[in-house]
Amino acid sequence: MALIQPVRELLEQERIECAAPLPSGLCRIRDPAKLERRGFPEGSVRSILILLVPYHPGKAAVPPDRNLSVYAFSRDYHLFFRELFGRIIPSLSQIYPGYRFEGFSDNSPISEQYAAACAGLGVLGDNGLIISRRYGSYVFLAEVFSDLPPDRWGEVRTVPPQTCLHCGACRDACPMNREQPPCRGCLSELTQKKKDLPEETPALIRHYRTVWGCDLCQEACPLNAAAEPTPIPFFQTDLIPRLTSERLNRMTEEELSERAFGWRGRKPIARNVAILEASPDTVSGSSV
Ligand code: SF4
Ligand code: SF4
Repeated sequence: MALIQPVRELLEQERIECAAPLPSGLCRIRDPAKLERRGFPEGSVRSILILLVPYHPGKAAVPPDRNLSVYAFSRDYHLFFRELFGRIIPSLSQIYPGYRFEGFSDNSPISEQYAAACAGLGVLGDNGLIISRRYGSYVFLAEVFSDLPPDRWGEVRTVPPQTCLHCGACRDACPMNREQPPCRGCLSELTQKKKDLPEETPALIRHYRTVWGCDLCQEACPLNAAAEPTPIPFFQTDLIPRLTSERLNRMTEEELSERAFGWRGRKPIARNVAILEASPDTVSGSSV
């Protein structure tokens, strides 16, 4: 990290080792209203600190019978970022008095993957994900927007966005492409739908043994082969890799709301678990 020492130390306390500043002019602000609501009049953002947050807890923490996507093993990453920004934004305001800082993750006003690639934090994968050298694609992206001049963060190194190997392994591994004729969309998105599931979805859930998400394109990617586990305790503890109806029924609404698989409410995840549990490992008559 080419950041000034106090910022580097602040992020190291959070076990965040990959971060880089970007001049805001390199990012197209897709949704300026989001920034205005957070106190940045149009044109006032001058820099964006891009954070790369690894979440994979390591291969040993992924049992063969898991049925959740790895990103959903831990408590909801939105909670992590809320807590993270609650700690680092006041510290940044002390390091840089008089400047404004606002944190975003997921629901960002910019294209996070493109910005991270411009900041040299990874390459743009054909699977739509940013792929970092150290943690592969098992990363969340987040940003701190500021009116701070970019070079006040430290050395600004921007690069033309690089792309992946284009090897096609992610495309070949994708369940939606393996179907004949190919299915539309993404299995991960299907598992999150509240209603109007395409008719093939139950067969896909059973065949690929997932009740939430899908990691197949990530697991097939050669750039993920040597991905390191996260050093961040939040993503190493309180993990649920396999969800059963018995476990789900024991969860209070509050506990469920703290899980990524609960963000659509209880019904969609309960439906998916019921679909999976209604079926033996090998499903006769499945179309997949
Ligand atoms: S998450 Fe799964 S279904 Fe979605 S693109 Fe990747 S492999 Fe395909
Ligand atoms: S599997 Fe190959 S094509 Fe797909 S993202 Fe990885 S390197 Fe790129």
